Amino acid sequence: MNQEQMPIPACPLARHNTRQVIVGKVRVGGDAPVVVQSMTNTDTADVLATAMQVAELARAGSEIVRITVNNEAAAKAVPHIRDRLLALNMDVPLVGDFHYNGHKLLTDFPACAEALAKFRINPGNVGAGSKRDPQFAAIVELACRYDKPVRIGVNWGSLDQSVLARIMDENASRAEPRDAGAVMREALVVSALESAAKAEEYGLGRERIILSAKVSSVQDLIAVYRELARRSDYALHLGLTEAGMGSKGIVGSTAALAVLLQEGIGDTIRISLTPEPGGSRTQEVVVAQEILQTMGLRAFTPMVTACPGCGRTTSTFFQELASGIQDYVRAQMPVWREQYDGVENMTLAVMGCVVNGPGESKHANIGISLPGTGETPAAPVYVDGEKVVTLRGDNIGAEFKAIVDEYVATKYVRKGG
Ligand code: SF4
Repeated sequence: MNQEQMPIPACPLARHNTRQVIVGKVRVGGDAPVVVQSMTNTDTADVLATAMQVAELARAGSEIVRITVNNEAAAKAVPHIRDRLLALNMDVPLVGDFHYNGHKLLTDFPACAEALAKFRINPGNVGAGSKRDPQFAAIVELACRYDKPVRIGVNWGSLDQSVLARIMDENASRAEPRDAGAVMREALVVSALESAAKAEEYGLGRERIILSAKVSSVQDLIAVYRELARRSDYALHLGLTEAGMGSKGIVGSTAALAVLLQEGIGDTIRISLTPEPGGSRTQEVVVAQEILQTMGLRAFTPMVTACPGCGRTTSTFFQELASGIQDYVRAQMPVWREQYDGVENMTLAVMGCVVNGPGESKHANIGISLPGTGETPAAPVYVDGEKVVTLRGDNIGAEFKAIVDEYVATKYVRKGG
């Protein structure tokens, strides 16, 4: 066999070895699958609005939901939010996001501490000057008392200034000082690791610590997390902070997270999208799931392959069918997930003409090839590679959905059946 005939190996996907952390009922790190997280944007003091948004995010697939706990009203609301969710039979772990006054809120409102599955603190915002260490120690002590894990979440927008000043001083004394970006990245990593070491000194076990170090630049994020992974075995939460709105936020987050996930770095992810006005908060969950699913790391919902369309496409009908089918299977998933095993792995193809249509359709579990310009007005449907029927007329969309329903009901084993 010469060089040109060598088989092309698949890309390896070895996970970075991290400690496993239990967050409520969810495993993070170790051999657990990468977990999808999100965060509410409601006023936490508004129990109903927050519980409803947490429920919406959880239904969309968020496995952990973070809520801000910024004042007494919010801390009082937390156990009631949890109760409302439990009444809806939703046991999604809630993470409390604390800045500046976490030590006081968790001390004064034990029911809040009890109801949360994890505390998130930012070493840069725990407290100023001489208050910083005792307030950090107090939160860690409360986490130990309530048996909760802690995410030590460093953010470049609120970097611990004492750490930054020290790293800058050290850099200035180097024979060849590093540039400002390298100093900032080092300060982020050092802040996270030193805070984690301090938390351990105060009694928090490694299996209760998750680290994050978020920045808004893709290259900085990749560099920082590579270094965190190289220097430690703490479970890591990934996210590009302030990713932005629409395609910019999605592309930036995907570019950064895909590189790290491909290197096996990252145990839980959040996509920090700014929702479009009137847009759903659940978009960040869908994007997180799609990153993991398109990379082959997890499967959440059947994926629809669709061609982009071109001058051979006769109408927008195939675009509407592709989008309608993706919406349909996503809407069905909460029910299908309860009834059928493995349905999330189903693949669908909706193609615009005969050029690539039959080939792509044959590779999917169910594929349809719509007629392009000048082609016979008929849409052959392929099931597991075999042509089973040709659809015609005005009812192709409904008939194709019926084929999908029948396939699900017959191919995936009914749970408990
Ligand atoms: S499958 Fe047909 S319609 Fe779709 S992009 Fe290719 S040539 Fe164009």
